[in-house]
Amino acid sequence: MALERTLVLLKPCTVQRALIGEIISIFEKKGLHIVGLKMMQLDDRILSEHYAHLSEKPFFQRVKDAMMACPVVALCLEGVEAIEVVRTLAGPTNGRKAPAGTIRGNYSMSFQENIVHASDGPETAAAEVKRFFKPEELYEWKSNNLLSTYANDEF
Ligand code: ADP
Repeated sequence: MALERTLVLLKPCTVQRALIGEIISIFEKKGLHIVGLKMMQLDDRILSEHYAHLSEKPFFQRVKDAMMACPVVALCLEGVEAIEVVRTLAGPTNGRKAPAGTIRGNYSMSFQENIVHASDGPETAAAEVKRFFKPEELYEWKSNNLLSTYANDEF
């Protein structure tokens, strides 16, 4: 099983609603390992790249504006199959339709203001971690909890 890294952004809605600690705590409690963590103000350049797949959508500029409304918190999380685990925790895009128990299902009433961004596959995760973190901002540190988090042949 693959130890993966994935990118999470706590969106401006999360920062404004004072949910930073609560959402980070969900990832920590799950057993994901935080290897990068910082606050940053996004700009149109990085968002046009990050949301390039939405460039033809009518809401493209609105989504970018919402992501620039205030700083975001960027996290790089590590774990076995972390990309899929984090997407499952986040839930489907529309907060009103996301199942209870997911982050979006529990905290969001909106298609757009949906609390977190999470990488959706191995290629995007690699590109997104690189987009938001410099190599020296990522920390290789060993968890003392590994054998309580996984069986010894799982990681
Ligand atoms: P996800 O964040 O679930 O991977 P997408 O990559 O499709 O979803 O979209 C990126 C972000 O753009 C979403 O998280 C959401 O904030 C916004 N968005 C996507 N689709 C819509 C929509 N139909 N209406 C409003 N906002 C949307």
